[in-house]
Amino acid sequence: MELDTLRDEARDLLDETVALRRTLHRWPELGNDLPVTREHVLSALEGLPLHVTQHSTTSGIAAVLDGGKPGPTVLLRGDMDALPLQEDTDLPFESATEGQMHACGHDTHTAMLVGAAKLLSARRADIPGRVLFMFQPGEEGFGGAEFMLNEGLLNLPPAADGTDSPVTGAYALHISSNLPTGWIASKGGSIMASADQMLITVTGRGGHASQPHHALDPIPIACEIVQALQMMVTRTIDVFDPTVVTVGRISAGTTNNIIPETAVIEGTIRAISERTRAKVRDGIRRVAEGVSAAHDAQVTVDFHDGYPVTVNNPGSAEFALDVAREVVGKGAVVKLPNPIMGAEDFSYVLNRVPGAMVFLGGTGPDRNPATAAPNHSNRVMFDETAMVNGIAVYGAMALRHLTGAPG
Ligand SMILES: [Zn+2]
Ligand SMILES: [Zn+2]
Repeated sequence: MELDTLRDEARDLLDETVALRRTLHRWPELGNDLPVTREHVLSALEGLPLHVTQHSTTSGIAAVLDGGKPGPTVLLRGDMDALPLQEDTDLPFESATEGQMHACGHDTHTAMLVGAAKLLSARRADIPGRVLFMFQPGEEGFGGAEFMLNEGLLNLPPAADGTDSPVTGAYALHISSNLPTGWIASKGGSIMASADQMLITVTGRGGHASQPHHALDPIPIACEIVQALQMMVTRTIDVFDPTVVTVGRISAGTTNNIIPETAVIEGTIRAISERTRAKVRDGIRRVAEGVSAAHDAQVTVDFHDGYPVTVNNPGSAEFALDVAREVVGKGAVVKLPNPIMGAEDFSYVLNRVPGAMVFLGGTGPDRNPATAAPNHSNRVMFDETAMVNGIAVYGAMALRHLTGAPG
């Protein structure tokens, strides 16, 4: 199937894509319940030849396009949720909701996926198989993708002619402020990290600050644990299968002359393999318990599971980069040398279906990608013209996947 006109087809969709993106940007919503966003997406999809399922456990939308010929199904993901921060961009379509902002660019993902649905609907007759458009809520820590999987996202009924049409590939785009506008980047293997939380509570005995020997001060013990965690990381974890352990919050005490009973350490644990993810947890527990025992204090160590490691199928990632080279040109396609230590719940989809997470550059020529306000910043701004390449690459990955290319 020829892909050379896809970018022109995507460019024709840019105005309406920008309009939808700006509406979503103005009215951001958080978490898994996105009623306003869902209405905007549903009305943007109206009139397209899609079977639309509104999920009930979240505001997720699963829309299926049946091609003109039988074949498997390919999944394209766009996330729809925003972040809890106040926007400071002064854009004319700046968030109208206090303390909420589309600072991760999910508004662009949603708008591009709608654009891809339009582009692929127009080519429906030539498509051998189906396209499942996954509009997911709750990417920012609410596990929206997992809810959609649990609600049967992948359990599609047979195609119209009665043949089975399993989901054989899954692709997601994520806009990035660290890449020039319209560039495409990905890699095989681990591409994003796992993100677990740790909570360590050291319990001693409270008392008068002037007489520590009559108390058991948890504060120096907590400090020792924080230091020892970093040593544990550098001395026991393979540098080529790394982890990041960051203590982001430590709290104890009320004033200068009281020894408190407890000290609490909270942090995040990132890893790019499930092996290191498990190993570092064991190390954290051992260090916290060992240091506390050395000082005769009690300790509890709790972990809260976050998203797993996002692992691109190597063949699917190569496939996506090849398709991108064809659509946007070799000069705008980058094979990433390293994973990114952020986390993504597309990981749950990629644990079930081979596929790839792909980045799209969103920093315009007037800014330096190295210094531009990053994703999650109150000042981040994305160049909307990047969405032409985004729509075209979404469409190209689906078409090529179904027409029998590898991946
Ligand atoms: Zn984000
Ligand atoms: Zn994101």
